[in-house]
Amino acid sequence: MKNFPLSDLQLLEIIKKFPTPFHIYDERTIRSNYQRLLNAFNWVPFKEYFAVKATPNPKIVKLLADDGAGADCSSLPELLIANMAGLTGKNIIMTSNDTPIEEFEEALKLDAIINLDDISHLDFLAKNVKLPEMLCFRYNPADISNEGNDIIGKPAEAKYGLTRKQIFEAYKSATELGVKRFGLHTMVASNELYTQIFLTTAEIMFNLAVEIKHKLDIELEFINLGGGIGIPYRLDQKPVDLEAVGKGIHKLYDEILVKNNLRPSLAMESGRAITGNAGWLVSTVRHLKHTYKNYVGLDSCMADLMRPALYGAYHHISVVGKENKPLDYIYDVTGSLCENNDKFAIDRELPKIDVGDILIIHDTGAHGHAMGFNYNGKLRHAELLLRENGEVEMIRRAETIDDYFATLNLES
Ligand SMILES: *Cc1c(COP(=O)(O)O)cnc(C)c1O
Repeated sequence: MKNFPLSDLQLLEIIKKFPTPFHIYDERTIRSNYQRLLNAFNWVPFKEYFAVKATPNPKIVKLLADDGAGADCSSLPELLIANMAGLTGKNIIMTSNDTPIEEFEEALKLDAIINLDDISHLDFLAKNVKLPEMLCFRYNPADISNEGNDIIGKPAEAKYGLTRKQIFEAYKSATELGVKRFGLHTMVASNELYTQIFLTTAEIMFNLAVEIKHKLDIELEFINLGGGIGIPYRLDQKPVDLEAVGKGIHKLYDEILVKNNLRPSLAMESGRAITGNAGWLVSTVRHLKHTYKNYVGLDSCMADLMRPALYGAYHHISVVGKENKPLDYIYDVTGSLCENNDKFAIDRELPKIDVGDILIIHDTGAHGHAMGFNYNGKLRHAELLLRENGEVEMIRRAETIDDYFATLNLES
């Protein structure tokens, strides 16, 4: 069974006040996911920079910030969201790519940590803005590891990061240009469930830190292992064993770093692992259609959740009040977009569905509402937050037609 924090009755009460469709997030689950990550790394100075792009809502970033988390931003609006949540300075890391000048300017204004995606950005930053006292570089470990997955691809094919050779050149040049403090970053995994991937990544990074020390006499202040911790979208998948990840990385930290007299702090920038299983898309059945297949037509569409259409991703679906009914019907669950891949599920076994049924699409808390778009004139729906005291707060209203037309120039 998938978790859902409300009883059917409570949900129906909420729907009376906030009509479907909406995403609803659970504060308690978000907080406990964050604590579990912290606990896994309680043996080392550790910081989680929540990846704002997963759930770019200041209220979500703020509730994590209240518990000590920072923010990982990769655009100017995301920097502003982090700042709206009260974050500044080294509580923000900017991990962007193909970065415009204005983003660097805003990051420097906030005194955020800047994580450079390319060696050429060093001169670009020095020339167009200025170099900060501290810099981080993103390493692409394609020279060592070329596994990968569907979302992020193989490191050698990935546009991100510096090559091994460039990493050494970058720290050397930055030192010559007056930068004094350094971090190192990578992100190779995405939605990864296997412990070993995280250990291999840590091992590569720790060895690189030792090499940087030996070759350049630079001691890194922190190593950021990126995001990419997966969640079990399917019922038969198991959550990442964060305790095993923490323990395994602890061992490597001692064997590689401490042995070489290095003690950098560690960081991650998880999005999915924090909010993924703490959000649900709640939607009502608008039409049933029986042609060559059986279709359930919802009042939401891929503008509210792109992952199934984009990656063929599985999202579990349950039907309110029919949780214990036999799954003896097969449906395609669709939205209303004029795109045939606008389907939340294909050939899904579900109980018999009626018009007006409420469907809960699970695990939509990360990279869900955030990926929304307006194709076909579709408007993005509201976001609700279920607080720990049981109150429900609307943390983003639904878009209106006026919002949709706001950017048009209708002058003749
Ligand atoms: C997307 C992204 C993340 C978060 O990824 P999750 O899979 O949500 O953990 C972290 N860092 C960077 C640089 C990203 O692009």
